[in-house]
Amino acid sequence: MQTKYVVVLGSLMSGLGKGVVTSSILKLLDFYGYKVFPVKFDGYLNYDCGTMNPYQHGEVFVLDDKSEVDMDFGIYERFLNKSLTGDLSITGGKLFSTITSKERQGEYLGEDIQIIPHLTNDIIKRIEGISEAKRPDVLVIEVGGTVGDIENSYFIEAMRQLSLKHDVVFVNLTYVHDLKLTGEQKTKPAQIGLRLLLQDGIRPNFLICRASSKLLESTKEKLAMFANLNKERVIDDSDLLTLYSLPLQFMKQDFDRLLIKDLGLAPRSPDRKKISAWKMKVDRIISPKREATIAVVGKYTSMRDAYASVKEALVHSGAEADSKINIKWVESTDFESRLPDFSAFRDVDGVIVTGGFGTRGIEGMVNIIRHSRENGLPYLGLCLGMQLMAVEFARNVCGLRGANSSEFDKGAKYKIIDLLPSQRKIDKMGGTMRLGSQECDVVDKDTITYRSYKSMAIRERHRHRYEFNNKFKKTLMAKGLKVAAVNRQFNLVEFIEWPVGFGVATQSHPELKSRLETPSPLFVSLVEAAVSHHERKDLKR
Ligand code: GLN
Repeated sequence: MQTKYVVVLGSLMSGLGKGVVTSSILKLLDFYGYKVFPVKFDGYLNYDCGTMNPYQHGEVFVLDDKSEVDMDFGIYERFLNKSLTGDLSITGGKLFSTITSKERQGEYLGEDIQIIPHLTNDIIKRIEGISEAKRPDVLVIEVGGTVGDIENSYFIEAMRQLSLKHDVVFVNLTYVHDLKLTGEQKTKPAQIGLRLLLQDGIRPNFLICRASSKLLESTKEKLAMFANLNKERVIDDSDLLTLYSLPLQFMKQDFDRLLIKDLGLAPRSPDRKKISAWKMKVDRIISPKREATIAVVGKYTSMRDAYASVKEALVHSGAEADSKINIKWVESTDFESRLPDFSAFRDVDGVIVTGGFGTRGIEGMVNIIRHSRENGLPYLGLCLGMQLMAVEFARNVCGLRGANSSEFDKGAKYKIIDLLPSQRKIDKMGGTMRLGSQECDVVDKDTITYRSYKSMAIRERHRHRYEFNNKFKKTLMAKGLKVAAVNRQFNLVEFIEWPVGFGVATQSHPELKSRLETPSPLFVSLVEAAVSHHERKDLKR
């Protein structure tokens, strides 16, 4: 059967959760066993997200195939439980760079190249190319930005044209404003959003309404009338206790049946086992039996999107361990003094030091790692969090004063973390880090690493330039630091652990592969250790 398409367009403003709606649609179709993939359009002119600042744009998500993509890919993978590829991310930067290089090669000799038809045709060709290569039943295409932006206008036009050739269902995510004072739901903004979309020649099959409280029947009726739709096609997307319950909320409203009908897919019955396993996880997120508080230490903590995957990995591992995880965001720059005040850590049961780049906040992280080690707080280090775990151990256990990473102190006497020779020659910034899925081998079975993964081979995703310096391996190991896993091909240290207590860190980013249905084993171990810490504290009280 020919691939069918769902196109998700957002109206009025960003931040309505278009990625979650797209992922929930993917999950609905996945519950029925249809083969689905997402595609994301981003209008910016960057080639990819690799060089973007997390402060501005949120987390840079990394795929197995080394692609550095928009953080929405993280949401897709967390819902769909499937590893995606970089060709599914189509940016303005990719489109324009292809077009200008084709022009230089003379592919359009004689023509003047225009947004319509050259760019729009290129978009359609890419979409058809993905369908040909991956042969999905449905591609769910999320158009980044909002209807009416200049940046995504050519994507929207391309989707209108796509619908002339293929089966396309349009979904419009919009906003209904709750007027707290009068208890009214105002539909005027949504009507205006709809009008903009109709002007672009697109009539949506479904109107999904973000609101803070449940959509009133009268609101649905009004919007249905303006959208020329049946009332059942105006879908409630009001606030939920967890975003993972959105696919279930959609099913309650029959959205799945209507969508499958509109797409003209051969009817199937859903996989009830898969749905009830999902529901069980959702129930555990909503009413967990146990709890713990985990400090997430970073340098971009005022921008929570910078740590989206870490936050979600804690939700997944919390659901696995039937535990509520309270996250305490800790800005490492607040802990840089010689004698930091750790009173904020009194109720903390576990600590994560996250990934990051640049000197700011580093000494605060080292101080927090020392505090965790000396006070028996379970610790998980992610990428930079592993590098600094090694630096802290070198300084305070091995007595190597001034130990550091050469990223932060080029002249450091003991460069515990250093650039690989292969990274020294690099003069371009985009796509040049150690990236993507890499395999490593467990070297010691008596480790948290082995007990977590229950396997001698581990595959996680990477995004960094610096590595553990093997020159110091013996010195650190002599004082008890465990090297739990290594990459044999390039002779790189990948997982390290403290000799006592729960302390484990990896050069990789296990948070990028954590999903609701398959949580990161390392995060699950940290959560278990933190919950035990919490319960021990309770006993002492
Ligand atoms: N800045 C460090 C490096 O490049 C760590 C990167 C990270 O945490 N992702 O190696």
